[in-house]
Amino acid sequence: MAATADKTKPYFPLAGGASDGYSKDNSATATCFCGAVQLAFPTEGPGLLVTFVCNCTDCRKITASMFASNFIVLADHLTHIRGRENLTSYSQSHTIASGNTMTNYFCKTCGTLMYRIREGSKGVVLRIGTVDDFNLHETKLKPKLEVFVKDRCSWVSPVEGAKQVESQTFK
Ligand SMILES: [Zn+2]
Ligand SMILES: [Zn+2]
Repeated sequence: MAATADKTKPYFPLAGGASDGYSKDNSATATCFCGAVQLAFPTEGPGLLVTFVCNCTDCRKITASMFASNFIVLADHLTHIRGRENLTSYSQSHTIASGNTMTNYFCKTCGTLMYRIREGSKGVVLRIGTVDDFNLHETKLKPKLEVFVKDRCSWVSPVEGAKQVESQTFK
């Protein structure tokens, strides 16, 4: 079980269509639900910039849940292992406070949102839930920050130990 898994080593539960994810000293994989799209990313700085939960109204819609659990890596530290051609994108700027366009990349087959890129940003916003080693969700990728707390659903609790921010902080 994820909750009781030994946190000192990787843990890959049966989840989705792929079973070839990996987790090394400072890099790991993220795979969509069907397995067609797989990424590799750094699990430490300087490539890993921040881990956070976002409660904004866009994140509620785009996850079809109450919040998004994200991490940002530098774009030049992200590797597409497979399935880049299987991504489809949706862009809009209507709800983005900065006015910059945010582009979302989904697996065409299963619909998993793999990442978002904001126009002009060097970072790529990945999703903690797509990371194959579930222990990373609770260790290196545990959210350090929680943003848009003002929009948090009333029955969701704050993330334990995460700095609470009323709205957005990333530029
Ligand atoms: Zn997929
Ligand atoms: Zn958000």
